[in-house]
Amino acid sequence: MKKLALHWKIIIGMILGIIFGFLMNSVDGGRGFVGDWIAPFGTIFINLLKLIAVPLILASLIKGISDLKDISKIKSMGLRTIGIYIGTTVIAIVIGLSIVNIVKPGTGMPQDTIENIKTAYQGNADVMIGKAKVTKEAGPLQPLVDIFPSNIFNSFAEPAMLQVIFFALFVGICLLLIPEKKAKPLIDFFDSLNEVVMKMVDLIMLFAPYAVFALMANVIIAFDDTTILVKLLGYAACVVFGLFLMICFYLMLVKVVTKKSPLWFLKQFSPAQLLAFSTSSSAATLPVTMERVEEHLGVDKEVAGFVLPVGATVNMDGTSLYQGIAAVFIMQVIWPEGLTFTNQLVIVGTALLASIGSAAVPSAGMVMLVIVLEAIGFPAELLPIGLALIFAVDRPLDMCRTVVNVTGDATVSMLVAKSLGKLHDNPKAKEWDDNYEN
Ligand code: ASP
Repeated sequence: MKKLALHWKIIIGMILGIIFGFLMNSVDGGRGFVGDWIAPFGTIFINLLKLIAVPLILASLIKGISDLKDISKIKSMGLRTIGIYIGTTVIAIVIGLSIVNIVKPGTGMPQDTIENIKTAYQGNADVMIGKAKVTKEAGPLQPLVDIFPSNIFNSFAEPAMLQVIFFALFVGICLLLIPEKKAKPLIDFFDSLNEVVMKMVDLIMLFAPYAVFALMANVIIAFDDTTILVKLLGYAACVVFGLFLMICFYLMLVKVVTKKSPLWFLKQFSPAQLLAFSTSSSAATLPVTMERVEEHLGVDKEVAGFVLPVGATVNMDGTSLYQGIAAVFIMQVIWPEGLTFTNQLVIVGTALLASIGSAAVPSAGMVMLVIVLEAIGFPAELLPIGLALIFAVDRPLDMCRTVVNVTGDATVSMLVAKSLGKLHDNPKAKEWDDNYEN
């Protein structure tokens, strides 16, 4: 019998999880049951993925850099990566702003709906604003300072991804600078560690279909007020449509630059996308993103080891697109006089920075939205209503934007790899095709 491909198993797990979540929502004590007996399996899965993220970044980056044999290549890889990341993020924001300005989902929302939403979500909005304050109070160069660790074990423990990347690059470069004989044992160690961690990803992924069942059931039981959801459908549809356009844009880039078929890309990469959707976290998905990109999309280790962890931290096209739409939607509803062209230009700049600054965890994009709104002079007293307004639909939109975030990282890694001659026809992809395709 032909084996069912992993992405189908995950999709089945998701659908069953959604159905189970709705069923449990409608029975007495169902929510408690899911919380106590089902959700922990999702947490275990996410913990396992987080567990291997740091060793994976270390191993693949150190091994990859030491394979490069030429330090100047690192500079060109770094510059290309950052350049393409900024380019795609700006495109995402412009797509978002165009849609929200054309569709205008926020005009004409009745006052009593706004009041209802405010009462329901004011508390949650206050929490987000509190979190944003902590981020904003740091000095302008703090993000730069934060890249350089003073204690690498703290960076591993947090984990602070950019610090881990810095450390791995530093070690990798120094391995290139010392005599080959001395460097070899450490390179072999990281090579072997890389193999082990990749195998761990494979094994953890066997558990993925069950884990997404638990994760989805847990998401569904959190939805209670569907009446508000309906009122926000226009806004949500704008975000989803924008995200869809972004995926099409990536597929086009893959086709034009690497000559690979979009369908092939989706087949190879979809397990990572499905996990991004189920976990709402690019950081938790990172090990699977790396495994898929290296072993299935054919990107060399040193490119994937650098581009993907950096991308998971700083490249969030889905988040920036959402921030553009959400900011303008909130203005359309409660502060239409603020909707000037200059303000929208400021949104492009701040959403770019805010998506770079957003952590790769659930809801991070919404926290940084506060900073985008403050940058355009959004009245502070209206902020809680503004955030409350979009809170009800934020989780599903977070799931969708995280898919775009990880797809963007994978696309850019292919583009960078192609430009450096580091994109290969991968044996695993072939094996996959042979096993699961006719
Ligand atoms: N959840 C997103 C991510 O991890 C960030 C966000 O937009 O909230 O990529």
